[in-house]
Parts: sequence; structure tokens; C-alpha cells
Amino acid sequence: MTQLSPAIYDKENIFAKILRKEIPCDYILETEHSVVFQDISPKAKVHVLLIPKGSYIDSYDFYKNATDVEIIDFQKTFVKIVENKELYENGFRLIANSGYYGGQEVPHFHIHVLGKQKLSAPF
Ligand code: AMP
Repeated sequence: MTQLSPAIYDKENIFAKILRKEIPCDYILETEHSVVFQDISPKAKVHVLLIPKGSYIDSYDFYKNATDVEIIDFQKTFVKIVENKELYENGFRLIANSGYYGGQEVPHFHIHVLGKQKLSAPF
């Protein structure tokens, strides 16, 4: 199996600063291992970001290296977003960009949750 060389987590990325409360954000909810806040540049009527509190670069890093407890917390927090924002009835979109080809701007794992309006086709 291919071994990917480990990338180094940048402790100065903007979401790390949000987690350390060095810069503000529009908090929605927080659990033991995850935080949800408004995207600063929303692309839909609802556009929130879900991040783990742990220092993971992207989805691969998170799902490979996070504990089961962190992963379950993250997934349960996603369910809370869908319920709190009442997204299920009409649908929504999840996006997790990774790395250069994936167009990831902030190198701390996050998923975008967008909804409350019809979204254009992604591809
Ligand atoms: P990505 O391209 O997947 O890394 O997305 C990064 C997202 O973070 C973009 O949608 C930005 O609008 C959002 N963002 C950047 N800085 C902040 C911030 N200070 N607070 C909230 N969202 C932010």
C-alpha cells in the first residue's frame, strides 16, 4: 500500500487561531471535540463550517489519525447541524476540500454545510 509522507500541521492557520480564541468567529455550537461556526463569506443562505478541535490538516489526516471518539463526535455534530438548521427536508450539500487540487484554502480539516436554497450543480 502507498504510504503518503506526513504533512506538517500549520499551527498559525486561521481555524487554529479561532480554536485558540485569538480571533473571533460567529459560533453556532461546540461539543467536546468539534466546533461549528458561520463561514465568513457565505455561498448560500446557510453556510456553516464544522471543524474538529484536534489539529488535523484534511479529511485524510482526520479519518486516518483521529480517535474513534473524535470521529463519532464529528459525525454526531454534523447531525446536530442538519437538525438545528432544519436542512433535511429540502436537502443540503457537504463539501470537504483537500489540498491543492481540492482547492483547500485553510489547512485545518473542515466540512462546509450549505443549504436553505437550491444550489447550482457542482460539476
Ligand atoms: P476551503 O477552501 O475549503 O479551505 O474553505 C475555507 C473557508 O473558510 C472559506 O469558505 C472561507 O470563507 C472560510 N473562512 C476563512 N476565514 C474565515 C473566518 N475567519 N471565519 C469564518 N470562515 C472563514
